[in-house]
Amino acid sequence: MQLHNFNSGPSILPKEVLDQAANAIHNFNDTGLSILEIGHRTTHFVAVVEEAKTIVKRLMNIGDDYEVLFLQGGATMQFMQVPMNLLDENGLAAICDNGVWGNKAVKEARIFGPVQVVADTSADKHTHLIKDLKLPANTSYLHITTNNTVEGTQWHSYPQLGVPLVGDMSSDIFCRPTPFHQFDLIYAGAQKNMGAAGVTMVVVKKSMLGKISRKIPAILDYQKHIEAGSLLNTPPVFAIYVSLLTLRWIEKEGGLAEMEKRNLAKANLLYNTIDASEHFYCPIKKEDRSIMNAVFFLKDETKEARFLEICKQNGMIGVKGYRTVGGIRVSMYNAMPHDSVKAFCELMNDFS
Ligand SMILES: *Cc1c(COP(=O)(O)O)cnc(C)c1O
Repeated sequence: MQLHNFNSGPSILPKEVLDQAANAIHNFNDTGLSILEIGHRTTHFVAVVEEAKTIVKRLMNIGDDYEVLFLQGGATMQFMQVPMNLLDENGLAAICDNGVWGNKAVKEARIFGPVQVVADTSADKHTHLIKDLKLPANTSYLHITTNNTVEGTQWHSYPQLGVPLVGDMSSDIFCRPTPFHQFDLIYAGAQKNMGAAGVTMVVVKKSMLGKISRKIPAILDYQKHIEAGSLLNTPPVFAIYVSLLTLRWIEKEGGLAEMEKRNLAKANLLYNTIDASEHFYCPIKKEDRSIMNAVFFLKDETKEARFLEICKQNGMIGVKGYRTVGGIRVSMYNAMPHDSVKAFCELMNDFS
């Protein structure tokens, strides 16, 4: 049976990326050694990091005022590392709480300085975004989650309010052409749309750093990582390599414009199927729906278990909603083939 991998993260990668990664485990770049057994300071691996950074900057269309870092600790570590580097008692972090991940960012930032939640959609179960934001005068930066992986909302344009903008792009990085230059710091765990678990990409505008007085441990200090070229300590060598392979794949396939074309076609097909259905509904406000993660429900929730069972029988993997949200979640990252979404929609129609 053909499997359709709708996992929310770690999630589907292009088949050729998996093949290349598998080959590199046995023989990396004809060195006769595995990618798992070469030193991170060898010319071979330094070239991997440099090429990955170059492709990221090209895809983001950003210049040397930004630095690209490959760090560990997941996006979750960025919930604390961002405020540790950018926030102190003299400033204020304005944060949008549009779901599970934004909420964690709020809690962690409070450890380091004043925080104001400038949008909280919890009363509406996070089924929309609040885009008309009022920021306090002393805001140091505004933090948004560009795609709410769990709840199924996505920012389709970004707030430009004259303060530095920080974006958690873990689940929609490189899904389409994006005005990355509107952000002063972007972070993304690689395991959703750009690689394997174990590495987090951080892209930071250098002018953001060095403005607070706190002493920062070297391993958590962006400035120290910049000085060391992402090689402050042993980086996650294999995970960075898988990101490089995925970045190459994105460019080879036609770049972000092509990713958007494919992603929109998949998302439109799925949302149109849901909206036309008598048995399924999507509570997310149309203009805020995510093209990466569609969250929807059965009108008769007593039929949900039966639908999930049928999904399982038909090779549809990872479509059960997040534990606190319930319902169905279909994740359609860059590597997801159109045919898989089509097969899922046909199953929904058959079920109806
Ligand atoms: C998955 C996810 C996270 C958490 O990532 P970890 O790598 O598990 O720390 C944070 N933010 C968003 C938007 C996510 O999708």
